[in-house]
Amino acid sequence: MKERAYNFSAGPSMLPEAVIKDVADNLLNYHECGESVMEMSHRSAEFKQILADAEANLRDIMNIPDNYKVLFIQGGGTLQFAMVPLNLAVNSRKIDFVLTGNWAKKAYKEAVKMGYDAKVIASSEDDTFTWIPEITKDDIRPDADYVHICFNNTIYGTHFPYIPDTGDIPLVADMSSCILSEEIDVTKFGMIWAGVQKNVAPSGVAVVIVREDLIGKAAADIPTYLDYQIHADNDSAYNTPNTFSIYVSGEVFKYLKANGGVAAMHEKNVRKAKKLYDYIDGSGYYKCPVREKDRSLMNVVFVIGDKDVEKKFVAEAKAAGLHNLGGHRSIGGMRASIYNAMPEAGVDALIEFMKKFADENK
Ligand SMILES: *Cc1c(COP(=O)(O)O)cnc(C)c1O
Repeated sequence: MKERAYNFSAGPSMLPEAVIKDVADNLLNYHECGESVMEMSHRSAEFKQILADAEANLRDIMNIPDNYKVLFIQGGGTLQFAMVPLNLAVNSRKIDFVLTGNWAKKAYKEAVKMGYDAKVIASSEDDTFTWIPEITKDDIRPDADYVHICFNNTIYGTHFPYIPDTGDIPLVADMSSCILSEEIDVTKFGMIWAGVQKNVAPSGVAVVIVREDLIGKAAADIPTYLDYQIHADNDSAYNTPNTFSIYVSGEVFKYLKANGGVAAMHEKNVRKAKKLYDYIDGSGYYKCPVREKDRSLMNVVFVIGDKDVEKKFVAEAKAAGLHNLGGHRSIGGMRASIYNAMPEAGVDALIEFMKKFADENK
């Protein structure tokens, strides 16, 4: 294949082409410092600057208040399922979960496995997670240490259409598949975290944004690496961090800042998603199973209803330069992940392909 494909993978996923090119230009000799970022000491002045700029730019584009720490931690999204309870469930050890899909469930199961008092306060599992439950303060245990939600459900293509009001109880949101896709009022959350490989950078880092009064309370016997306070005290470089992924993350933050910030990105995301959902809904051939107001801007799931035809769809799409349109292995069907870096032309090309495929296979 001579040209780059439109890659609809759920993650790792597309990066802005301008960022990849800039990284490539600087790959051998980063800004003429004589070294590649891949070879650079994490204690060097150059890398310290990369890390400081990444944090400053993320703070800027997300409008993160000073009383929140920004941390870059290895272990991806999954390690956070264990780290959050260890650091935040330190009083009653009670955690309330809203089950909206596989990732929320994994977080819940990890807490159960570790012996926390985990409670599912709402779930849409009986309807294959096709909608988002509405929760109020009354659903939450008054002494819960925090409430966990998965803000965008990568596999089921749903997204919280509201920010739950949890009162004084910290709200913790897994934003792995939607961070930087829309403007978010960080102050409504005790903690936001995201694996970077969906909407930011190559895999290997989770960005953690946590209110500083919530950390520093973990039990003394937890593994050192799992304590947020250690990462905060050492500016995300207690040990060797994932230098390359942090570098690319920082380049993406810079790119967003120079291109209208998160608001401009959101506008484009709304336009892209609307086009695709409108086409699906009006097609008479494809169906989106998700309740309209809960639909994700990032992950668009749809079905034809015949497994063999769906297989053919995914294969023919790939041959046409539209990659990775198969649904998650747990639910099948199709999924188009159209993160920030998916150009609008990619969505247009997908819709054209879908029209043609529908005509040929009706
Ligand atoms: C991908 C994903 C994860 C898991 O991320 P890993 O980095 O693979 O551990 C967790 N939560 C959500 C919402 C995701 O989309």
